Amino acid sequence: ATPTSIMVGTGRAAELGVLFRKGAALQGLSKVQLVALDKTGTVTEGRPEVVDVLLVDGVTRETVLALTAAAEAASEHPIASAIVRAAKGVFAASEVEVLPGKGLRAQVGTAKVTVGSDRFLAEEGIDTTPLAQAEVEHTARGETVVFVAIDGALAAMIAVADKVKPSSAAAIKALRAQGLRVAMITGDKRATAMAIAAQVGIDEVVAEVLPDGKVNAIKELCAHGPVAFVGDGINDAPALAQADVGIAIGTGTDVAIESADVVLMSGDLSGVATAIEASRATMANIR
Ligand code: ADP
Ligand code: MG
Repeated sequence: ATPTSIMVGTGRAAELGVLFRKGAALQGLSKVQLVALDKTGTVTEGRPEVVDVLLVDGVTRETVLALTAAAEAASEHPIASAIVRAAKGVFAASEVEVLPGKGLRAQVGTAKVTVGSDRFLAEEGIDTTPLAQAEVEHTARGETVVFVAIDGALAAMIAVADKVKPSSAAAIKALRAQGLRVAMITGDKRATAMAIAAQVGIDEVVAEVLPDGKVNAIKELCAHGPVAFVGDGINDAPALAQADVGIAIGTGTDVAIESADVVLMSGDLSGVATAIEASRATMANIR
């Protein structure tokens, strides 16, 4: 590609709300065969709401939410803001340890609070099965389930629901029409991921991966041909850097934007097909 054609292509794409941060990305994107999407905040709104709280006997909803929210106040995860918004009390945590892709540990007053996935709580020696009975129903609806333990004893299950963006299904259909494979990668449970994928027409799902695992998943997908990864979160930065082309949602975190080759000005996925169209048009003109 000549510098002039790259400049013209980059300019045209910018008018359509697609910022190519590197000229090479215009070339790279035209060769992509698979688009991998992050789930939370990319396919979905990333603004989950607490829809259900199950408690063990003797624990009140107010206390659990206040303690959990105190812990979550230190986290930037969408699950954290959902819990903070649902809580009414104000407790402050003195110590918080955030474990990306897992959850967190916090000291709130005299209470030791552990919040996160069933797998994380199991690692901490806490059995979540006494409160797991509603999990199947929640995950089948695409909701995320997290568990809370207080002083090492299981206290609550919290379900949060995050709606898919109204534009996601059409954006994914447009990518398919361009002859691309579309996959979704998430740290969330497989059942939740499958339900969200079904709502938007995705049939390839990589679920229950830790933030490092997202990089490995991208590496594996890249072995079959050039891959673009689309993400918005802090946790997505390594995967954005690993993919042949990293695409950040413009409304995403600064870290994601800085790690990306392409930034979409719109807050949704419609710009991905636009970016691919622009890259293909530029490369076609050059050849
Ligand atoms: P995603 O791929 O949806 O962004 P993450 O990799 O960030 O998911 O997190 C995976 C799982 O770890 C979540 O579904 C949740 O169970 C748990 N988790 C991560 N961060 C938190 C948090 N701040 N509070 C509670 N649970 C969390
Ligand atoms: Mg995300």
